[in-house]
Amino acid sequence: MLTQETLNRAEARVPRYTSYPTAPHFAKAIGPLQVAQWYADIPDDRPVSVYVHVPFCAQLCWYCGCNTTIASKYASVHNYVDTLLRELAHARTVLRHRLPVGQIHFGGGTPNALSPVDFARIADALHEMFDIGVDTRFDVELDPRILDAKMAWMLVASGVTRVNLGIQDFDPTVQAAINRVQPVELVEARLADLRAAGLPEFGVDLLYGLPHQTEATIAATVDKVADLGASRVALFGYAHVPWMKPHQKLLEPHGLPGIEARMKLMAHAHARLAARGYRRIGIDHFARADDELAVAAGEGRLARNFQGYTTDRAETLLAFGPSAIAAFREGYAQNHTRLDEWRAAVEGKELPVARGVALSDDDRVRREIIVRLMCDMSVDLDALAPGRRFPDAFARIDRFAAEGLCTRDGAHIAIPPPARSFARIVASAFDAYLDGGEARHSVAV
Ligand code: SF4
Repeated sequence: MLTQETLNRAEARVPRYTSYPTAPHFAKAIGPLQVAQWYADIPDDRPVSVYVHVPFCAQLCWYCGCNTTIASKYASVHNYVDTLLRELAHARTVLRHRLPVGQIHFGGGTPNALSPVDFARIADALHEMFDIGVDTRFDVELDPRILDAKMAWMLVASGVTRVNLGIQDFDPTVQAAINRVQPVELVEARLADLRAAGLPEFGVDLLYGLPHQTEATIAATVDKVADLGASRVALFGYAHVPWMKPHQKLLEPHGLPGIEARMKLMAHAHARLAARGYRRIGIDHFARADDELAVAAGEGRLARNFQGYTTDRAETLLAFGPSAIAAFREGYAQNHTRLDEWRAAVEGKELPVARGVALSDDDRVRREIIVRLMCDMSVDLDALAPGRRFPDAFARIDRFAAEGLCTRDGAHIAIPPPARSFARIVASAFDAYLDGGEARHSVAV
């Protein structure tokens, strides 16, 4: 039985902590000149990561919270690739070294909204610019509805090592309500293309909290995903933020599950994933025991970045395309979000940085505490930040402990398994910016 206190906590609006400080606290004080210096100071002796944002999709999903555009003509996608190549070329002039790359990730939008030839143009530019080897992981987010065999082969030829498919839910009524119709037979056919091309490993994204979802539909979706052979599942709570994404209002006439129904859907999906052999990773990822994410979690090597949970522990993440966020030892930098502003900055031969934040020592310590809580469900402050005390955070932690969301033994904080879904709330105790911002985040669960 869910208590009212638990339901209230689940409705708290807290960040997802894919960065700290979080994006609403980025400011224009960090611009192209500052970030050019950060580029120049990247050490050349350890691998960096690279993110490429593709802000185009074939059709808008009503639940979408991403920065994307529906291109009516492919020419605008092709022009985007021309501009992206100019952004890469300019970044190359700012870098002092040909850096080794451990991880590449293409996200969006929909990376396979690109033609195979345009995808290869970007991959070729990255290969020229960086030291990319056989050990480099190369992940791509894919929309199965617009995938074909030619693209599958081009992914492999470009060095892609792993793909992630947007699924959300296999129930036809749910799919119709969210404007994303993709029968399981279609996904099976696209997986056959990927396997024939040499990409056997794949992950999927699922959502709970959508209209018409029931415990039966979500269990059936989990079963289909397991039967298809996904080694990894990301199960996110649908974030209803119509003040930021007005098209999400199109879901409202279908009725959205309330917080109690959301939590039941989540719990049911978790139980089904466990029954099908998936281990829970962090708060919202699941992986088979042999998946490298599960292995990393088991060895305490799990990390968190803008893609969520990852094995990638690189300090530097270079990010290209509109809205993309880069991470440096010194801080974060986000590109212009609007396509026209991003393009104008690139054409002006500057890094298209719109805003960012420089990290203080306090930010770095709090970030590490938040990441460890989100990844390991525990943190030992004596080991991680010897001599430091956080009286503001401890006061909040003790309040959360009284509600059963965590325990505190001196400087050791732990989140018990039943409270794992509340890790964002517990981590927020260490967020020194939380009270100062007006940002409206999605609900915690
Ligand atoms: S495919 Fe993904 S990014 Fe594109 S509209 Fe749908 S949810 Fe948004």
